[in-house]
Amino acid sequence: MGSSHAVSGAAGWLAGCAALAAAGVPAEPPVVIVGTVVAAGAALLPDCDHPSSCVAHTFGPATKFLCRRIGRACAVLHARTRTPLDVRDLDGHRTLTHTVLWALVTGLVAAVGGWLGGIAAAAVVTFATTGLAVRALWPKRKRGTLGATLGGAVTAAALVTFGPAGGWWWLGLPVAFGCLAHIAGDALTNTGVPALFPLKLGGRRWRRLRAPRGLRFGTGGRAEHLVRWAMVAGAIGAGWLLAA
Ligand SMILES: [Zn+2]
Repeated sequence: MGSSHAVSGAAGWLAGCAALAAAGVPAEPPVVIVGTVVAAGAALLPDCDHPSSCVAHTFGPATKFLCRRIGRACAVLHARTRTPLDVRDLDGHRTLTHTVLWALVTGLVAAVGGWLGGIAAAAVVTFATTGLAVRALWPKRKRGTLGATLGGAVTAAALVTFGPAGGWWWLGLPVAFGCLAHIAGDALTNTGVPALFPLKLGGRRWRRLRAPRGLRFGTGGRAEHLVRWAMVAGAIGAGWLLAA
């Protein structure tokens, strides 16, 4: 599902920029271009809670180790905060990192980083998110580490060479947006996501929210492919509108 998430982040960001331009508030070209790449990569981030996810395979053993640790920490948090009505969770997947709260905090961290750290922080964010986006679109499931690293390095180097020294706080927006796009995408699957944690819903703190039955689909199925290609078409349309 990684490529679908990446496409959803990019298409959503481009569509938002096109809508702003249509409303007479056009975004600056770097916000459109860099923001699209960052949103595409950030749309993979919530799966950093699983050692077999696209995120885990992106930068080799480093990300695999990190994802395993995050998954365990999420499982501990779930076990300590669940109510008697919450279903038990053993691996931590689709818990904290699949909540609106986590998306907003992650965006805030990127925004503060971009504000205080300037171009250096922006380079780190674009390196990581470009790597994630490249890895998500890589055809081989367990390869692509070199491609992701090179892709991230090229984008970060271009940013440092041509980008302004400061004013990168806005990177928090595509980061938060990408995470939210991922959560919305997972809510369309049968498993759902506990998007509103820590709010208690029906006595459950980790209640999984899902789209109505008719709108849900299984991961990797035909419906997901159709939705992905529809988003690609939407991204091309939005890009064309912005370029016109
Ligand atoms: Zn997910």
